[in-house]
Amino acid sequence: REFSDFLDENGYLHIAEEDTLVDYVERNVVEKADTLAYRYMDYSRERDGEAIDLTWAQFGKRLRAVAARLQQVSSPGDRVAILAPQSLEYVIGFFASLYAGSIAVPLFSPDEPGHTDRLHAVLGDCSPKVILTATKSAEAVRDFFKPLPAKERPRVIAVDAVPDSVGETWKRPTPKQHDVAYLQYTSGSTRTPAGVEITYESVGSNALQMINALDLNENSRGVTWLPMFHDMGLLTVIVPALGGKYITIMSPAAFVRRPGRWIKELAAAADGAETFAAAPNFAYEHAAARGLPRDGEELDLSNVIGLINGSEPVTVSSMTKFRDAFEPYGLPKYAMKPSYGMAEATLFVSAPPRHREPKVIYVDRDDLNAGKFTVVEKSAPNAVAQVACGQVAASQWAAIVDPETASEQPDGVVGEIWLNGINLGHGYWGRPDESQKTFRNVLEHPLESGSHAAGAQFPDRWLRTGDYGVWYDGDLFITGRVKDLVIVDGRNHYPQDLEYSAQEATSALRPGFVAAFAVPANQLSPEVFANASSGMKHDPDDASEQLVIVGERNTGKRQDPQEVADAVRAAIAQRHGVMARDVLMVPAGSIPRTSSGKIAHTACKNAYIDGTLRGGYTQTAFPDAPT
Ligand code: ATP
Ligand code: MG
Repeated sequence: REFSDFLDENGYLHIAEEDTLVDYVERNVVEKADTLAYRYMDYSRERDGEAIDLTWAQFGKRLRAVAARLQQVSSPGDRVAILAPQSLEYVIGFFASLYAGSIAVPLFSPDEPGHTDRLHAVLGDCSPKVILTATKSAEAVRDFFKPLPAKERPRVIAVDAVPDSVGETWKRPTPKQHDVAYLQYTSGSTRTPAGVEITYESVGSNALQMINALDLNENSRGVTWLPMFHDMGLLTVIVPALGGKYITIMSPAAFVRRPGRWIKELAAAADGAETFAAAPNFAYEHAAARGLPRDGEELDLSNVIGLINGSEPVTVSSMTKFRDAFEPYGLPKYAMKPSYGMAEATLFVSAPPRHREPKVIYVDRDDLNAGKFTVVEKSAPNAVAQVACGQVAASQWAAIVDPETASEQPDGVVGEIWLNGINLGHGYWGRPDESQKTFRNVLEHPLESGSHAAGAQFPDRWLRTGDYGVWYDGDLFITGRVKDLVIVDGRNHYPQDLEYSAQEATSALRPGFVAAFAVPANQLSPEVFANASSGMKHDPDDASEQLVIVGERNTGKRQDPQEVADAVRAAIAQRHGVMARDVLMVPAGSIPRTSSGKIAHTACKNAYIDGTLRGGYTQTAFPDAPT
């Protein structure tokens, strides 16, 4: 079916009752029985990997069996959490929960190091009745729940231990489009992760929006190593249910160790499929640095049609390095797609059209910090690069809003990004107040002309994203998170801009592993006051916000911390007109990150204040444990 077949008489995307994910998969099981649905590349035994394949018929059989098992031990609407390692069992577990009429909660196995606190918080929040895992993680999962009293422990089922025959008792559920299909927990960059209630309608429409934006068709095939508990990883494995060819899945660790594996799978196979993938910014840099083919190995990337780069600020350097590395192998210039998305919108919000090359403009820093886009030459002393995230998906709306007055802002003016569309989640699980404030806003004053809210479907359901952005020359730009903005002496600074300047000023800091945030003066570390170059005297009553820069130590020659701090301080003062009161170098792995690898600025600030950051406490966060 074409995208236009899903539009109603007013041109709005409409998902029919008989088009839930369960219906889609059931149709594939019948109509595409012997076609490949999912391929898992296992690199644990062989360097070049072994393919484990599932056809739609086999997939359907597994789903019925696991769903029937779930129906024996739970009721419709119960939460079923997936705590499996990256594997086909994970995909089966997720879809089987829908097949059982449960609410799926895609999480991660407790043997993932470093994130047990998050796992405890999330499980406490959604109180699952059943845990789905795989045999090889079952022991770790059982151990994880051992401290709980027996009757509070959820039942643990290993997906691969359920025999096909159990499927005979499966009763097909009849979900409504407005029922919750799963809870998508946010990454937790600024808070404890919140569970977004994704309905059948939200996920169905957002998958179609993404397919339409990337211009995928029956001949498209995806390759992913993203963890499936992450919104971007999950939606990628949902796409084949709605159309296109199979998806190739590998583990994040397989990618991190040898990113060339991901690149190789993206290349034209004998099937000549058009390929696509999604990954955060750092992955493209990593692939460019370490993913080139070995001498004499062939690589043809001319079939790659869309590489979504999202979930974190997109950098020019990462895009350039990736292009320079892979254009000689036929990678189309338009393949890279800087994109915007978030869990509250299911995933996908905006990307440039298929055949457009990434667009970068340069704006004046002072104007940007004051909330305005003024385009300047790249060589201008105050130029800051801004990467365009394209246009919003069909049947989705993004307005730039002054949240104080709920007034839409004209193009070129920075404000909070507000979203509208049927792909938005219903709310946050168990958090009615936050849901109300985040998901149920009214845009009181749309622009009279040039409004980006024109035609928006749900006037009382605008989503406040908590991100600053701007419309400029037909493109949406994301400038940064509201909560992470650094405000010193009444002036705004975007952390990523400060971080970039800091890492450019010295080779002693790991690029991408620098955090900038503000701390009240009286909570700065005592060492700051002992050090004359900070320019600070201790005053217990001084709560003014002051800038702190923390960076992880780069590999290579050790450098004198005082010299590094001076170089960073000078660059920040000169470029941004602000004094970095503390410049702290910490061991690799110290900066708090989310389970998907994003810098958690608030957590970093708290760790600074309570002293654990300076103490060199090492986080063992995914995915970039030092190698
Ligand atoms: P939490 O909401 O729990 O603090 P999170 O916002 O990181 O965590 P996600 O929903 O996974 O959780 O991530 C979406 C966010 O990622 C966006 O709101 C935005 O801040 C950031 N983001 C996504 N794409 C981009 C992009 N292209 N450029 C800059 N930031 C982006
Ligand atoms: Mg968020």
